[in-house]
Amino acid sequence: MHSIWEQRSFGAPVHLAVVGAGLVGLWAAVHARRRWPHRRVLVVERGPHPAGASVRNAGFACFGSPSELLADLAAEGEQAALTRVAERWQGLLELRRELGDAVIGFEATGGHEVYAADDPLYTRVAEGFDRLNRLLAPITGPAPFRWLADGADRFGLAPGTRVARTDLEGPVDSGRLMVALLHLARQHGVEFRWDLPVERLEPGPAGVDLVPARGPALHARQVLVATNGYARQLLPLADVVPARGQVLLTTPVPGLRLRGTFHAHEGYYYFRDLDRAVLLGGARHLDKAGETTWADGTSPLLQAALEDFLQRHILPGRHVPIAHRWSGIMGFRGQGKTPLVQCMAPGVVAAVGLSGMGVAIGIRVARQAVELMEE
Ligand SMILES: Cc1cc2nc3c(=O)[nH]c(=O)nc-3n(C[C@H](O)[C@H](O)[C@H](O)COP(=O)(O)OP(=O)(O)OC[C@H]3O[C@@H](n4cnc5c(N)ncnc54)[C@H](O)[C@@H]3O)c2cc1C
Repeated sequence: MHSIWEQRSFGAPVHLAVVGAGLVGLWAAVHARRRWPHRRVLVVERGPHPAGASVRNAGFACFGSPSELLADLAAEGEQAALTRVAERWQGLLELRRELGDAVIGFEATGGHEVYAADDPLYTRVAEGFDRLNRLLAPITGPAPFRWLADGADRFGLAPGTRVARTDLEGPVDSGRLMVALLHLARQHGVEFRWDLPVERLEPGPAGVDLVPARGPALHARQVLVATNGYARQLLPLADVVPARGQVLLTTPVPGLRLRGTFHAHEGYYYFRDLDRAVLLGGARHLDKAGETTWADGTSPLLQAALEDFLQRHILPGRHVPIAHRWSGIMGFRGQGKTPLVQCMAPGVVAAVGLSGMGVAIGIRVARQAVELMEE
């Protein structure tokens, strides 16, 4: 027995339901309300707040380390690799412009790639360094990367470590970023349903039913699936596999000299400073099969590898207690690194498989997906 007021307001048809309140889902909802300011846009999230990679990552605002970009150039050719760098670079600029550096805790302390004294990667990167700078110049401005002669000493890294630096990257506070984005979405009139896992989607002639694990189905004219690493749970045909990333955070380190974001070992390790402590993640390459999982949690093997890396390369000769450990689920494509942005069924568009780049490209991937939606 709903009143006419309930029917007209809270019962009005939902034009777009977005599944997943991560970076992509929230940006999609904001873009959608800008496109349709008078239509209802509802975000449905299974957690009590955003609960995916967007709040579990390491907080890097980065467009790619030299070794990663050189590997992409070799694997995909100049056009494809440079198009993606441009997307990442433009995405970061848009993100910072929309939310504000101070609000998201962006620190212009630089991005770095480090190479241990005996690291063969150094030779490969050194050979391609000038070419990379030349190719990136039209995107980021001249010579984005340079060598830091005093890098090991400046950051207190193991002696002999070589350091490449860009001034254009830096850390963000992923928690503050997501709070700010939620605020923006609310300002745009986006509606939310929290604690509601969607179990399946049932497209029909008049729209799509979102069937939750419990309670009645929701109905929307169209649905945008932004569940990234969990994509296959709703879209079994999506070519996206989960990839767990593990992280640890030390207790504060007296006299810590580390500043900025750092990549090592072809991006398999990444670390930064956070409140005078070291945040370190990665080592997934040591057990790729085991880390292809939707399960939260950490493993003794990877955590031991992270601690070993910490002691050998970042804090040589020091034993610093670990204060915190966690994991987050990324979504990787089966082939290549391009996110899956595609209509998967009538009224259902996917924007998933951000391949570990969602901080940078999330805002643009979301826009691309909303542009695919019907009027
Ligand atoms: C350890 C780690 C390090 C990273 N480092 C970087 C980096 O350096 N640079 C970078 O750009 N990116 C990095 N990333 C990746 C980046 O965080 C992601 O690409 C980005 O957050 C993806 O955003 P998303 O919105 O697509 O997915 P998510 O943030 O995962 O959001 C998906 C949401 O969907 C919800 N959900 C899932 N299934 C359902 C369902 N059935 N019903 C309702 N809700 C559902 C989840 O709870 C979640 O909130 C890293 C990620 C991790 C884990």
